[in-house]
Amino acid sequence: MPRWGYKIHEDRQVIWEEGDFSLVERIRLAEPSLCLCISCGTCASGCTAAQFTDFSLRRVIIQLQRGRIEEVRQEIDRCMLCGKCILTCPRGVNTRHLVLCIRKELSGDVLY
Ligand code: SF4
Ligand code: SF4
Repeated sequence: MPRWGYKIHEDRQVIWEEGDFSLVERIRLAEPSLCLCISCGTCASGCTAAQFTDFSLRRVIIQLQRGRIEEVRQEIDRCMLCGKCILTCPRGVNTRHLVLCIRKELSGDVLY
């Protein structure tokens, strides 16, 4: 095993085998623009909810893509659905609809 002189901190590790990707697959069908997200964070930087909480849509999307549903569940209700992030997203992700789809799926309403 080669020694590279660095190691990845445990809290930064992504263990793909442990992820549950069923949710992200259904959300992609319901809101295909999710595939355009480049995790730039523009949506989070101007987010209304982020002014009052530590909510970050960027983080939610990353957790969703990593199959970490419990983390998504803990955060998604903080979004105030104001729609500001739709106007700022450089990739045209329909963020507001994305949040609504995630909430619906997590509440048991199967979209696909
Ligand atoms: S602004 Fe758009 S592309 Fe950037 S992280 Fe948010 S949803 Fe993704
Ligand atoms: S719709 Fe939600 S994620 Fe987007 S800016 Fe408003 S509160 Fe933030």
